Amino acid sequence: MTQEVLEGKREIEGQIPERRPEPGELERRREAASEPAAGGRLPVWRCRVCGYLAAREKPPRECPICKASADRFEPFPLPGGPTFPVWRCRVCGYLAAREKPPRECPICKASADRFEPFSL
Ligand SMILES: [Zn+2]
Ligand SMILES: [Zn+2]
Repeated sequence: MTQEVLEGKREIEGQIPERRPEPGELERRREAASEPAAGGRLPVWRCRVCGYLAAREKPPRECPICKASADRFEPFPLPGGPTFPVWRCRVCGYLAAREKPPRECPICKASADRFEPFSL
């Protein structure tokens, strides 16, 4: 171990007590505190383009199915908004909220007749 490394280590340790929360960090912590515990109820996000559903804290950055960006996602069901039937692929469990089941499952390629109505 060289003197430089030891000094570097001391420097890092010395920084810890001085570290102040960055702007916005407290807010983020509050947000984290209000998150439901694991296994709790997560919001469901719907891709307005393809009907893809994702149950998670925030909408995905990009729809894994149609590549639409996060701003194309809306909470599902929209409070007071239009709602869509949910379709479940009986082969792989893929869920899509849209008027009609997809012609083909984007995950396993099963045809529309393998979809069944599903209630969340
Ligand atoms: Zn999509
Ligand atoms: Zn499928």
